[in-house]
Amino acid sequence: MKPRIGMIAKCAFPEEIASSILAAGGIPVLIPIQASPQLAPDYISMVEGLLVPGGEDVTPFLYGQDPCAKVTISYQDKDQFEIALIKEAIKQNKPIFGICRGQQIINVALGGTLIQDIPSCLPDAVCHKQDGVAKTEPIHRVYLEKDEYLEVLFGHREIDANSLHHQSIDRLADGLKVAARTADGIIEGIESEDGRIFGVQWHPELLYTQYPHFLKLFSRLIELAGQ
Ligand code: MN
Repeated sequence: MKPRIGMIAKCAFPEEIASSILAAGGIPVLIPIQASPQLAPDYISMVEGLLVPGGEDVTPFLYGQDPCAKVTISYQDKDQFEIALIKEAIKQNKPIFGICRGQQIINVALGGTLIQDIPSCLPDAVCHKQDGVAKTEPIHRVYLEKDEYLEVLFGHREIDANSLHHQSIDRLADGLKVAARTADGIIEGIESEDGRIFGVQWHPELLYTQYPHFLKLFSRLIELAGQ
């Protein structure tokens, strides 16, 4: 039986996420956001892995901050349910792959913080929000840390990726390490010490049809879920 991969139903690019899971040999299973955090054990029991996709900003209260003016849409109920799913997946030792907001909320679930708005906090940062450039095209270079999972996976120290975010990880949670950054120092990839939790800040689900190497990220999740 193919590994079943849970993904929250309301997210950025749900069709592309589901297609990526299917293309990598998994079965996407939608988890409704109406569910309460108490049901996280039931939902996680139904799947072999968890994909935490992109979406709105994470509610700053959840990492101990008031929102800055650039934080517009956030849904605290959804955030709390997703954090419960992440914690439960860790408890049940099921692998987790986070994309964009997914990588950020994994960091928040484990006790880290976020940069609420990159252009306000780091005016000289690389442009991380590609407006007017197709989302299916890379826009900035990502530098992969030597011997970390992304370098091993892609076999290069540098790759080019798309970028659709104005937030990013600030203080990294205990138990996570940096796997990639852009030239401005923004964290673009993370992994847990045991390798069963990993994330990227870009959107491989929008890139893999034209740039097939990005499917390797989904294959890694399916592989871990099948073990
Ligand atoms: Mn970026």
